[in-house]
Amino acid sequence: MTLNRSEFKRQPAKEPKTKPGPRQRKCSNCGSQFLQQRMGQQVCSTACAQSYGRRISEQQQRKKERQERAETKAKLKTRADWLREAQAAINSWVRLVRDVDKSCISCGRQHEGKYDCGHYLSRGAHPNLAFVENNLAKQCVPCNQYLSGNQIRFRQGLIARIGLEAVEALESDNEPRKYSISDLQAIKADYSARLRELKGK
Ligand SMILES: [Zn+2]
Ligand SMILES: [Zn+2]
Repeated sequence: MTLNRSEFKRQPAKEPKTKPGPRQRKCSNCGSQFLQQRMGQQVCSTACAQSYGRRISEQQQRKKERQERAETKAKLKTRADWLREAQAAINSWVRLVRDVDKSCISCGRQHEGKYDCGHYLSRGAHPNLAFVENNLAKQCVPCNQYLSGNQIRFRQGLIARIGLEAVEALESDNEPRKYSISDLQAIKADYSARLRELKGK
């Protein structure tokens, strides 16, 4: 509500606002109850103010150190490290998000055990397809690890899912894709975020 000036003048001299009495609150340092003497007062005494201040600055210091350690560690990572981490992130996303309700791409088996994320065209022979989503699918561990990807049936499963045309496009995809460290960092961040989003639900 806004008062216009004339209305305001007509009003009788106002009583000074009654201040709300001191408010009970809990000391942020020692947890005991105290009467708040001024706005924003968080602690009961000077002693508590000092130790509370120390605690906060120690916390900030530790946080800063953690950040610095993380940064130093990040600087020491090689491109191969980032490649591995980015691959792990997209693989988890395939297994746990995109294909979560699907069975093994190549044998069709739906089981309780562990799944991998398989590459239809292997990373060794086709490093340019390592992060191409159509080339990746959830696959059971036996197919992925013991049947060398069970590739013929992987192809059949892939055709059933994305169609022959898309599979052939993948097979003739020779686009060289060079990923810099910052590309790999971005890939990792992107798929990790999409995975976290799911976990938050
Ligand atoms: Zn206190
Ligand atoms: Zn399988």
